[in-house]
Amino acid sequence: MNLVPVNSVSGQHFETIIIGTGFGSSFYLHEARRYGLQPTLVVDWGQFHPHDWQVEQKRNSATAVSDTFNSESSKVWNYTIGFGGGMNCWFAQTPRFHPTDFQLASRYGIGQDWPITYDELEPYYAEAEEIMSISGDPDMARIMPRSRDFPQPPHNLTTADQLMKRAQPDRHFAMPTARARVATSTRSACCASLRCQLCPVDAKFTAQNGFPGLYDDPAVKLCLGTRALHFVTAGDRVTELVVEHEGREYRLHADRFILGANAIQSPAILLNSGMESPLTGAGLHESYGFSVEVFLDGLDHFNGSTITTGINYSLYDGDHRRDTAAALVYFENRWTYGLRREPGKHRWSLPVTIVTEDLLQPENRVLSKAATPQPVPTIAYGDASDYARRGADRALRLLPEVLKPLPVEAIHFRGYRPTESHLQGTLRMGRTPDDSVVDADQIHHRWRNLTVVGTSVFPSCSCANPSLTVAALSLRAARLAVA
Ligand SMILES: Cc1cc2nc3c(=O)[nH]c(=O)nc-3n(C[C@H](O)[C@H](O)[C@H](O)COP(=O)(O)OP(=O)(O)OC[C@H]3O[C@@H](n4cnc5c(N)ncnc54)[C@H](O)[C@@H]3O)c2cc1C
Ligand code: SF4
Repeated sequence: MNLVPVNSVSGQHFETIIIGTGFGSSFYLHEARRYGLQPTLVVDWGQFHPHDWQVEQKRNSATAVSDTFNSESSKVWNYTIGFGGGMNCWFAQTPRFHPTDFQLASRYGIGQDWPITYDELEPYYAEAEEIMSISGDPDMARIMPRSRDFPQPPHNLTTADQLMKRAQPDRHFAMPTARARVATSTRSACCASLRCQLCPVDAKFTAQNGFPGLYDDPAVKLCLGTRALHFVTAGDRVTELVVEHEGREYRLHADRFILGANAIQSPAILLNSGMESPLTGAGLHESYGFSVEVFLDGLDHFNGSTITTGINYSLYDGDHRRDTAAALVYFENRWTYGLRREPGKHRWSLPVTIVTEDLLQPENRVLSKAATPQPVPTIAYGDASDYARRGADRALRLLPEVLKPLPVEAIHFRGYRPTESHLQGTLRMGRTPDDSVVDADQIHHRWRNLTVVGTSVFPSCSCANPSLTVAALSLRAARLAVA
């Protein structure tokens, strides 16, 4: 790792400065490096915490998330400040977005279209899956067309998943995941030890095991413990990034800037810079989730080879999306609720997670610093939309029908989930400055040497986990910029 102190680079000029080392930034850097990277400086607020440190300390970072933003709402937001960002804490679930997620407005008259289609992103999905050695079910191509096979075979299904898949071959699939089905040169095979935030056997893809060499490149200098505060602009260009390290401020210069803090910190940096537009910071959201425990009648569960084994699209696409959110059903192989107590029935339990899409509501947002002069960003958040709630109600109502292939004894609602750990949407991408902050290439509509990467650019909320899509978008943005 080419670590340098920030005071040694503050007088230098770089071709590119990248903020953050998480999904958006690292996949961008990876692709830019393939195409002859020029001198690049990467700054990250967090520190490097080796895998062993994380497992021993039982945390992903020494920085508490709660110290990095203010909020009067009880809504939980979850992320990692540290080298690798969300690649440390993630559970490595990697479904692609459904093709219709990119066209909500034009198909169903709700929400916003993306400025790119599934087909345009597809080759980059395939590349991101290759980089992360994704394990997946080839049958998924029935609803999400694929140009390449999954790099790894699917994980072993539970018996319940097998029954579901047999009855619903075009809707029930093995979960795509970056938890290795087969060991790679840097990762063990996943052994379903079920604590993926701190995987003890290093089976999931992380920045540390997945990007060897990326941050060793002599053309890439890395400053850790260095927080981006704000940009300085002149005309339609960003000229400087002002950072803070151990209480001192430094000015860093480059031709191009890549903003890949997360969907709370990235808009805060723009707002602190006075680089406001009506949508900057607006639309903070994530998918809306709840859990149920399905009591099975005479069927043992927990015999799959990873933590989440099945994904079911029965409640996903359709005309209901005009007023009721899509829902995605995850079949869990983790004993979230323990085993059943009745003799002989210990494993007759199937935990299920259901998530719905949400809408980007303008009042849910990161506030400008002028409104709340705090050292860290302030969030205003009300609630998920009625659209999302209707989707959850519909999913709960229709679940018995979806689960018909299984011997179901009872379905027990186990509560709404406080967070899906998927903050998104605060610097959305679109076609014009009226509907978005960045364009289809993720370049800011007004400051043309500034690219935004990460979940902040999502203009709609898929039910699916976001990080594979972030990775694919970053590969595409980098390719368009440097190829
Ligand atoms: C517990 C948990 C489980 C998850 N599981 C999954 C999953 O299974 N599948 C999935 O798809 N997603 C999952 N996610 C979500 C995933 O982590 C995020 O979607 C993803 O990391 C977003 O990528 P990003 O590039 O936007 O931000 P990040 O990956 O969070 O990267 C942001 C980077 O910016 C740095 N940074 C922040 N502010 C500043 C600043 N001011 N100056 C300099 N650097 C800064 C951070 O340290 C970090 O390195 C999970 C998240 C959590 C918390
Ligand atoms: S299920 Fe266990 S082995 Fe697999 S990625 Fe999660 S923690 Fe690691």
